[in-house]
Amino acid sequence: MRAATVLGSMETTLILLKPDCIAGRKAGEVLKRFEDAGFQIRGCRMFRADASLLREHYSHIASKPFYPEVETFMQSTPVIALALAGDNAVGRVRDIIGPTDSKKAAKGTVRGDFGVDVMVNIVHASDSQENAAIELKRFFRDGELFDYEMRFGTKSA
Ligand code: ADP
Repeated sequence: MRAATVLGSMETTLILLKPDCIAGRKAGEVLKRFEDAGFQIRGCRMFRADASLLREHYSHIASKPFYPEVETFMQSTPVIALALAGDNAVGRVRDIIGPTDSKKAAKGTVRGDFGVDVMVNIVHASDSQENAAIELKRFFRDGELFDYEMRFGTKSA
């Protein structure tokens, strides 16, 4: 017998909380949005992104004239990498964050609410399942992504 409903696909995606998010004390608020949307935290790591890591991560924009400014911005504080899992996580997280340019992002999206412009835009999120797999490997080492059951509920505040 066929299932009556089409099940979504469980995915894990890579988020970076960028320096404006960290320095602006918005990490908690941004993470809250993802948790409220039902995503599970599978990994969380804070680190300083060095130039070679950034050049690899941003290889698609590394030849653009604005790239040096992006590199300086991304090194201005440590960043936080998150691995978030959920149904259709890649697309749903991209919807939650909004488009690249914060000024064009709708209110209610992360970038629309907290971002400043096209560069200073609070978060990175993987844009395809293929890139999510590459980026999760880029920012998490073996053993840093966890599988576990969400067993305990909490009271709502
Ligand atoms: P996204 O982060 O939405 O996937 P891109 O991959 O196109 O967008 O760009 C990577 C990052 O480079 C952006 O998030 C932003 O921080 C920066 N960036 C993109 N375009 C510009 C630009 N025209 N000027 C300055 N910074 C930019």
